[in-house]
Amino acid sequence: MNGFSDFRDMASTYCGDGPVSSFIDAEINLSRFSRQTNFAYPGAQELLHHLTWYGAQVKLGEMAWQRIEGLAKGNVGLTLGTSVFPDSAVLGYCPSCRECDFQHYGMTYWHRLHQLPIVFFCPIHGDRVVRVRIKRSFLHKEFPVPGDFESDQNSSEPKFSLNENFWRGVAVMAAEVLQGAELPDADLMFSVMADELRRRKFVPPLSGGRLTALSEQLAAQALDNPSATRSPETVVFLKRIARSFDEPAAGMVLGRIVLLYWLFGELATVRERCRWLSVFGSESEISLPKAATIRTKLEAQYRRACTAYIKAHPECTRLDFQRAEYRNFRWLLHNDKIWLDRQLPIPHRGGKQFVLF
Ligand SMILES: [Zn+2]
Repeated sequence: MNGFSDFRDMASTYCGDGPVSSFIDAEINLSRFSRQTNFAYPGAQELLHHLTWYGAQVKLGEMAWQRIEGLAKGNVGLTLGTSVFPDSAVLGYCPSCRECDFQHYGMTYWHRLHQLPIVFFCPIHGDRVVRVRIKRSFLHKEFPVPGDFESDQNSSEPKFSLNENFWRGVAVMAAEVLQGAELPDADLMFSVMADELRRRKFVPPLSGGRLTALSEQLAAQALDNPSATRSPETVVFLKRIARSFDEPAAGMVLGRIVLLYWLFGELATVRERCRWLSVFGSESEISLPKAATIRTKLEAQYRRACTAYIKAHPECTRLDFQRAEYRNFRWLLHNDKIWLDRQLPIPHRGGKQFVLF
């Protein structure tokens, strides 16, 4: 940033063409920006994945991976405001993290994790995240770091009393989602959540009375005193989380992490359940409308993979296919058996091939 007198100058150089009137609202020319920063990230997709919050949304199935590809190709206008800050005027930090950053790096920075609207406590230190309201006009000239605005701290307390243990757990899970490597694929995660919600009799359909029941159950876990928390803010908050299950767009962003934590307690359990599901298939069909689209998509994908394999290995046996494409085989066996049976090579009588029925 050396040599720039104003952040708007820097934005015009790094983000787009010509002068810009606002730093965080400047439309980013992503291909150019990624060329200029390719010492750190090999390409636009990696950059979006690591520096914006789209990565977590993709992992949770709230956004298709193709959307990141689309953004990376530069078809959609992208700004710092929309891609990095959930709420562009409010930033959060953990006081202990700030101390550590000072000791380690001699400077502080805003941690992506602390900006998530569902993170109220630092998963490392347990401190309550301090949220600061920053005047947008300020961002044209300078970019404040944590602690610059002691006087301008807005109340970080939500309007309802939190069950601290619950929200610390949510913060730990959110950190795992953001920083961890691979998660089970979004379709599987959706099935696992649906199974668990069905087991607890919240689906189908997840609407009306059921949604209220879900919010009430969630309130019992998430709030200190659920019977006394009937404030409109609480109800809206809980309903937004609950809705993020079947209507990601209408639900709270990352509300799915809250639901996952509530249902399973930790990410390891979710992963394990997804692994089991991918091996053994689901016991029961998913009856939600969204699941139908997922099924169609999966079916097309697995069918394609199957025909491709058979085309590439015309001499293959059924066992070869099962060995080479185990997950594919299991899925088709459970969901598309008749089609699969027709594609596979005909089993020889008395041979080592197996029949599906
Ligand atoms: Zn911390």
